[in-house]
Amino acid sequence: MVYDAAVIGTGPAGFSAALNLKIHGKNFIWIGSKNLSEKAGKAERIDNYPGLSHITGKELNEMFGAQAEAMGLTITEQMVNSIAPMGANYALMAGSEFYETRAVILATGTARTAVLPGESALVGKGVSYCATCDGGLYRGRTIAVVCNAARFEHEAEFLAGLAAGVYYFPLYKDPALSGENVELMEERAVEILGEERVSGVKLKSGREIAVDGVFCLRDSVALASLLPSLETEEGHIAVDREMATNLPGVYAAGDCTGRPYQYAKAVGEGNVAAHSVIAYLAGKE
Ligand SMILES: Cc1cc2nc3c(=O)[nH]c(=O)nc-3n(C[C@H](O)[C@H](O)[C@H](O)COP(=O)(O)OP(=O)(O)OC[C@H]3O[C@@H](n4cnc5c(N)ncnc54)[C@H](O)[C@@H]3O)c2cc1C
Repeated sequence: MVYDAAVIGTGPAGFSAALNLKIHGKNFIWIGSKNLSEKAGKAERIDNYPGLSHITGKELNEMFGAQAEAMGLTITEQMVNSIAPMGANYALMAGSEFYETRAVILATGTARTAVLPGESALVGKGVSYCATCDGGLYRGRTIAVVCNAARFEHEAEFLAGLAAGVYYFPLYKDPALSGENVELMEERAVEILGEERVSGVKLKSGREIAVDGVFCLRDSVALASLLPSLETEEGHIAVDREMATNLPGVYAAGDCTGRPYQYAKAVGEGNVAAHSVIAYLAGKE
């Protein structure tokens, strides 16, 4: 099936885009977390969201969730790993799933983790973001896993069940991953090494360890890896007033397009992006 659109991200921007596509009867897929946005849920007190006084981020998230349910919106709980042009459409890879869509709205928030030097150039050549998709390639081999949150530990555990050896780099406190073939690294990985393929990882001390692959388990994918031909400006997606990017049919909204990082901006841009997609689709018919 070819979707009219895919909305990537379930924060305020993605929700606003999905809501408007739904109201306009579009056939779209909404991909992200069923918990909507961790970031959006963190605000202790929000005073600048029109119409709602002194609410917390958690309360706002809950209201978004209730409205999404009432509107019949469903979330496909996956992480999109890559987007590639496919004729006039786009192909999305999310976990082991593949989706084809005519338009895309990127509402991915800001990437919290910096990309490691060497990472973007080696995606698909030993660097992976998806344990389920690529884990099998490293059966009996040695890998590094850089993991930025405890909730991805089960993916690292899955990889440890396949690989001969795992150098585990947790970027959070109190990691619980263990196993005979798991080495918990106290030093940070600072670079992914390799020319044609991944050959190793460089540590902060300058020491290099040899690995066959590197898995980066994060709650967002670096833009340069997600959609390499996407134009960016200082780490944000470059857009015009229609929230259009440099790629036909690809729009962006929310924190991923730049400052100020605010709920109201995110929902406003999500709304504009949805209407731009509707106009884009109409123009193609
Ligand atoms: C502590 C704190 C307090 C704040 N207080 C305020 C405030 O008082 N007022 C205010 O206006 N703003 C506040 N903000 C900012 C506000 O939370 C953000 O501006 C808002 O959440 C941005 O929404 P967004 O949809 O653009 O991105 P996000 O909320 O970051 O949502 C992006 C979503 O996309 C998902 N995602 C990313 N990549 C992928 C992928 N490849 N595949 C699938 N899903 C993906 C993420 O997991 C996330 O769920 C605060 C933020 C924080 C952290």
